[in-house]
Amino acid sequence: MQEKIDQVVAVLRQAVNDFAPVCFASSLGAEDMVLTDLIARHGLDIELFSLDTGRLPQETYELMQAVSERYTTPLKVYFPDKALVEGYVAQNGVNGFYGSVESRKACCFVRKVEPLRRALSGKRAWVTGLRRDQAVTRGSLEVSSFDADFGLQKFNPLLEWSHKDVWAYIRHNDVPYNKLHDQFYPSLGCAPCTRSVTPGEDIRAGRWWWENPDSKECGLHVSAKIAHGAGVSAS
Ligand code: SF4
Repeated sequence: MQEKIDQVVAVLRQAVNDFAPVCFASSLGAEDMVLTDLIARHGLDIELFSLDTGRLPQETYELMQAVSERYTTPLKVYFPDKALVEGYVAQNGVNGFYGSVESRKACCFVRKVEPLRRALSGKRAWVTGLRRDQAVTRGSLEVSSFDADFGLQKFNPLLEWSHKDVWAYIRHNDVPYNKLHDQFYPSLGCAPCTRSVTPGEDIRAGRWWWENPDSKECGLHVSAKIAHGAGVSAS
């Protein structure tokens, strides 16, 4: 385990040395809590931020508060552009994302992708907590590669970690985590688009469960061209 931890810290240090300024996009999931702990523990010069979509579960806000109380590394929170949200709701309805994949991706664009672009602006690299075995859409990821969609280097230091590794680290280091994980929510996101799974089900089965597995990304980790669906107006 220590070897795996050392490798992650080495990747994070490489990111800081070669690509400063670097930021870490935390969704406050279990993997992201491991990285938050390591970044804070080693005093790495990496900006920590989260996106508040406006539709997060209460448990996620509780964790956000716990992170700011536990760590000296500040957690910066980005919110969606209010005009874009108002435009989306006017055209699609407040829960329009259940209607079609296109409408769902449009909501994810407004509430996640656009704020992410602002968060990444001016950075040379970003770090994520993606793991390879989380979804069929993540099979070809690399630990470090150029992210052409956002125009900066992307680091996935936990790529080869297992679910078990993540939870071993959290338990061993008493890292705060989202209490919804204790209620069989392995993958967390917005409240209306996340549900619990039954033992043995795919870990992404609780996200956008009404869609085909191939479409299950929010646009943060796939081409923004795909994510930018209809029904979004910047005006
Ligand atoms: S996960 Fe659901 S509520 Fe959240 S931004 Fe995407 S479609 Fe909208």
